[in-house]
Amino acid sequence: MGVQRSDRSRPPGTVPVVIIGAGIGGLTLAAICRQVKLPCIVLERTEELTPLGAGISLAPNALRVLEQLGIYQHVRKHGQPLRKMLVHYDTERWREMDFTGLEDKFDYPVYSIERATLHGLLLDAAGGKEAVTWGSKVTDIIDDKAASHVVVRTADGRQFSCDIAVGADGIRSVTRRILARNSGLDSINSISFTGRVHMSGYTKPLQGLGREQEGVGNWLFYDDAILTTWPCKDNRQWYIGVKRVNVGEKEPSKSVWVGATKSTVNEVYGDRFHPFGANKTVRDIVDQSERIIASNVFEEKDFPHMSCGRVALLGDAAHSMTSFFGQGACQAIEDATELSNALIRHYLFPSITSLQDGLDRYTEVRDKRGRELVSFSAKYAGMHVARLPYGLGPLTRRIVYGWLPMWCWFWGLEWLYGYQPVVEDLGVDLSI
Ligand SMILES: Cc1cc2nc3c(=O)[nH]c(=O)nc-3n(C[C@H](O)[C@H](O)[C@H](O)COP(=O)(O)OP(=O)(O)OC[C@H]3O[C@@H](n4cnc5c(N)ncnc54)[C@H](O)[C@@H]3O)c2cc1C
Repeated sequence: MGVQRSDRSRPPGTVPVVIIGAGIGGLTLAAICRQVKLPCIVLERTEELTPLGAGISLAPNALRVLEQLGIYQHVRKHGQPLRKMLVHYDTERWREMDFTGLEDKFDYPVYSIERATLHGLLLDAAGGKEAVTWGSKVTDIIDDKAASHVVVRTADGRQFSCDIAVGADGIRSVTRRILARNSGLDSINSISFTGRVHMSGYTKPLQGLGREQEGVGNWLFYDDAILTTWPCKDNRQWYIGVKRVNVGEKEPSKSVWVGATKSTVNEVYGDRFHPFGANKTVRDIVDQSERIIASNVFEEKDFPHMSCGRVALLGDAAHSMTSFFGQGACQAIEDATELSNALIRHYLFPSITSLQDGLDRYTEVRDKRGRELVSFSAKYAGMHVARLPYGLGPLTRRIVYGWLPMWCWFWGLEWLYGYQPVVEDLGVDLSI
């Protein structure tokens, strides 16, 4: 083990890369490092794999690199491609939207999969449980310009030396806070609570559904709430509802719905219409759930740079976004791919591409895309819940979901799904 091309100055006990966080982005990067034999250490604060959430949807922009890494074949096995979305306003059917053309246009459909399954697939690709140093909560990162290496410290007093530290530590990133501190900024919180709360769940196979409902999801609009249900394998659905928090209930620092149960969700949605419910209510779906999770919705307000010195950020640590368009994890995967390209280029040709050059390029490419996605997600959220300036929300929503032709949808998704980064030199062996 060891990167010989550029590690001549590396003291024993140091590695090229320390990744902070074994979430979706961190594990994707670790899986790439494993394939190109670039040694890395993954530090994860939890004692074992603990994926939050219920299900997750993966779009074409993330699937190409997952195919390159050999993960897509498992996503296909365990996941469900989206075929159609039924759109309802209460009980009124607006439309059946056909997404089968996505695969022809973008080479991949949108796949929904249980979140824990995806997390497990990424962990396997990264080398399994042994690839992660569990129970390692990072508390500090010292990137002293005069020192040859970056030092990452954990809460229990251990320290790890590396060429580059990657903060893949999610929405409440300690890495981001340390970067802010190192840049002399007082404000260390760049995310803000949107005033909305997610409730999501994952059902058992729904009884009474047949082949024709496989791959069919639902966009459900009610007067004061929305609910989306995504189709998973075996006619399971994972659902995500968003509720505006009542005035006075708004707590910027913690989830006001922690500990939500089926009855919590049913209080909000239970009696509303759902076309797949045995009695045509959401309650029928919620009562069939294996798991319910609630979380506050945050978004980025003040973007940190994606790298500073020898520390880089990826995923939610750099750009939290509302989940309305299901892109947070896809963006973490894109980030990991582009960051790996910068690292591989550096370790292959250290005299031509310095680490700083690589990180600068990563920052240039990803800062822009991250901001675009956060902005797009926020605007999309406004349209989805029919809250747009000048009272245009309801009409816009009606046009977009009720009448806009599918070719317009696909055209409008080109910038998002058509960008499919890959690892440029996945075949290299950096240990040689
Ligand atoms: C309800 C809901 C539904 C969503 N649906 C979708 C969807 O359909 N599609 C989609 O693309 N995205 C979706 N998202 C967004 C997506 O979940 C996130 O954007 C994605 O998980 C971000 O990945 P990440 O690797 O940046 O962070 P995470 O996956 O959050 O991983 C961060 C990791 O870092 C660890 N960590 C944190 N602090 C430390 C520390 N100090 N030391 C060590 N380890 C630490 C954490 O324990 C965690 O394992 C959804 C989000 C929510 C809340």
